[in-house]
Amino acid sequence: MAKTAKVANQTPMMVQYQKIKDQYPDAFLFYRLGDFYEMFNDDAIKGAQLLELTLTTRNHKSDNPIPMCGVPHHAVQNYIDILVDKGYKVAICEQMEDPKLAKGMVKREVIQLVTPGTNTEVGSESAKSNNYLTALVANTDSHEMGFAYADIATGELKVATLIDVNELLNEVVSLRTKEIVVNSTVPSTLIDQITKLGILVSHQEEIVIQAESSYLSQDIDDDNQQQALSLLLMYINVTQKRSLAHLQRAESYEPSRYLKMDHYSQYNLELTHNIRTKKKSGTLLWLLDETKTAMGARLLKQWLDRPLLSKTAIEDRQNKVRVLLDHYFERSNLQDELVSVYDLERLAGRVAFGSVNGRDLIQLKTSLQQMPKIIHVLETLDAPELDNILKSLDPVEDVATAIENAIVDDPPLSVTEGNVIKDGYNAKLDEYRDAMRNGKQWIAELQESEREATGISTLKVAYNRVFGYYIEVTKANLNKLPEGRYKRTQTLTNAERFSTPELKEREQLILEAQEKSSALEYSLFTGVRDIVKDAIQRLQKLAKVVATLDILQSFAVVSEDYRLVQPKMSEDSHDLEIVQGRHPVVEKVMGRQSYVPNDIHMDPKTSILLITGPNMSGKSTYMRQLALTVIMAQMGCFVPAESAKLPIFDQIFTRIGAADDLISGQSTFMVEMQEANQAILHATPNSLILFDEIGRGTATYDGMALAQSIIEYVHNNVHAKTLFSTHYHELTALEDSLSDLRNVHVGAVEKDGELVFLHQVESGPADKSYGIHVAKLAGMPNDLLSRAAKILSELESENKTNNISTVESKPMAKVSEPDVAEVDTINEDEQLSLFSESQLDPKVTAVVDSLKKLNLMSVTPMDVMNLVNKWQQKLSK
Ligand code: ADP
Ligand code: MG
Repeated sequence: MAKTAKVANQTPMMVQYQKIKDQYPDAFLFYRLGDFYEMFNDDAIKGAQLLELTLTTRNHKSDNPIPMCGVPHHAVQNYIDILVDKGYKVAICEQMEDPKLAKGMVKREVIQLVTPGTNTEVGSESAKSNNYLTALVANTDSHEMGFAYADIATGELKVATLIDVNELLNEVVSLRTKEIVVNSTVPSTLIDQITKLGILVSHQEEIVIQAESSYLSQDIDDDNQQQALSLLLMYINVTQKRSLAHLQRAESYEPSRYLKMDHYSQYNLELTHNIRTKKKSGTLLWLLDETKTAMGARLLKQWLDRPLLSKTAIEDRQNKVRVLLDHYFERSNLQDELVSVYDLERLAGRVAFGSVNGRDLIQLKTSLQQMPKIIHVLETLDAPELDNILKSLDPVEDVATAIENAIVDDPPLSVTEGNVIKDGYNAKLDEYRDAMRNGKQWIAELQESEREATGISTLKVAYNRVFGYYIEVTKANLNKLPEGRYKRTQTLTNAERFSTPELKEREQLILEAQEKSSALEYSLFTGVRDIVKDAIQRLQKLAKVVATLDILQSFAVVSEDYRLVQPKMSEDSHDLEIVQGRHPVVEKVMGRQSYVPNDIHMDPKTSILLITGPNMSGKSTYMRQLALTVIMAQMGCFVPAESAKLPIFDQIFTRIGAADDLISGQSTFMVEMQEANQAILHATPNSLILFDEIGRGTATYDGMALAQSIIEYVHNNVHAKTLFSTHYHELTALEDSLSDLRNVHVGAVEKDGELVFLHQVESGPADKSYGIHVAKLAGMPNDLLSRAAKILSELESENKTNNISTVESKPMAKVSEPDVAEVDTINEDEQLSLFSESQLDPKVTAVVDSLKKLNLMSVTPMDVMNLVNKWQQKLSK
């Protein structure tokens, strides 16, 4: 950033600039200069590039011209949003006095530091999600960490104690925080890890406890949590420099009270982001979101991030969904009312900031006026399940009435120029308005009477800002004007303008009334705003209740639309039975007719299902289907099946195979092993593990060896419910040696020489791998195919003789972190040597090899045509 050396022989303005800039070295300084915000020096060079602005210079004739660029003040928010979106900070530096009245340099101050985690001015689409600012302190004695987060727009404030780095990473990823505040207690290695996730790390050392924030931390006893909270509040204070009266009293939460999913799993299961498109479409959130309010949409994301663990709490939600599902008409009434409820949380936030205008208050009123109707719907439903919602629904009617009485229905954006307050609300205001209206009426009539008196039919009475009211007479008619009474005020080319003593007097009255009434209106407006401000906490509570109700109706809608059923939850049994289950998102995308439902049955004695079947048969879909069903159930939603009995899971781990990774271009064997390791280290007997084609990312024997030992380890040491899909047929033999493992397979049949996928899961192992059939489907030459079949049978018979080792499957000691780097991998050459024994033509080997590597999931039919064409050419050379 700019060098201090430049300060020498600078203009006073640049000296002032540099002094302010030095306080914000890591932010873009937007320096207000008249109608523009200017950037200088390095800020200007980088800013011009990021914002596509023209870079100019100040003092361009001097030896050291200063790079400069600027944005007009009325469009500044756009530019701030762009920079903050890209992860930068912007310090807004305003003129603190009127330049016309200032003596010497205009006083300037930074009035706000906008940062990625504190930006509240975001577009309407992003209002559907929270923007969380987080803070972290580490306690070197206990190794625990204090963690706090806030959404400055909505006022939500939470704190927690985190026990390890994993828990921290899971929290920051699931909150999708863009910025974390740390102090020197946080080790730099941890800061590096956080930075790698694309999160901005802001440092804040000094903490001054503000009197007003002591209220916020009242309920927090834990020391680590207190410190994280203070750090967070301090940072909010130094960046925002504005009232934050709407911050809610901090609430402590325990991450372990929820179904935990590490961030790999959240990502792999496409809960909120489609892996390929990064959009919401095609995700579980997309399926579940039939909410009508922004608050509901936001809370739904939180529910999705934190499914419940308590059976009572889950059933409480389920029972409410049941009532709403069973009462179609009441439900659709409820939806109609919810549509008109605006974002109460954000409105409350704007009231606290003082940035609320008349239109916001009308939105608030409209929203509150829906409450009696919503209460009415709930009363007609008359269901004990909904009692606690009904009881906690405080309609905050006093605020609605206050707004209704005072504010006009269609107020202007500005709150200082009048026309905001209703007639009849305040006697003094009515008087001023009368004076204004009468005066204007008098002036309108003046034109008529003056025309009559002078006989000048073109005489005009009008108004302009500089000269006020005037009488205008064209030059041709000047001679008709009597002497004396008319005082000339202005001369134009064709006309003269005059004033009279009466006109001046009236003008005085009108302008005075106008000025006073605007001032009075503003003070009446702030009076109403204060009434709202006093009700902020009630409004926030109401927002929560409305959001909850909104989600419950959304679940009811989804349950009806997609034929979901209420699952039976059990806390203590490990019995899992889903009859005719479906993957709700795949079903929605491909249509109900085409989807083949499947059972999943794992009795208390079954911990591992080993799933085999050809590529593209539906193994991955089957596994994800279970995970999504579990998540939906523990959110309190119904599930896609004919019936479902589910244990309550404490954690979900996934390792989704290389095949799927290739699509997103992220496949590395290391990631695969890291993800698997998470599960092996942290899963409990109450966890769910999905291992999809583990070992695929390395050489055959290497991968198979790892896959087998992982299965054995999970079977003998972890005991979590595990779905393990594999293309290693040999592994199906494990059923004989591992008592809690069952084989299932996804069926496929050959019909007229073609492979037909049934997507039907049956018990037992798949009988063969269908790779060669797929190659046949792709139209490969017959010679090649029969050669491949021959090699296969040779390899298979070889395998029969040195069958997989199932001997050593007794419990191993639970190891900590197996060092992946030390595992030997078989390289390409060794792999090829398998084939050289069979003395293949190298051309054929090359083709077979690339066929083996071909991942059908990641290519289009056209790609296949091109590849086959290439292979044919190669073979016929
Ligand atoms: P695998 O993991 O066995 O290679 P996938 O689970 O990726 O197979 O499924 C491949 C494709 O088959 C999916 O994209 C989907 O279109 C289809 N499919 C999977 N399961 C079903 C099902 N139960 N009913 C209908 N189509 C399915
Ligand atoms: Mg798959």
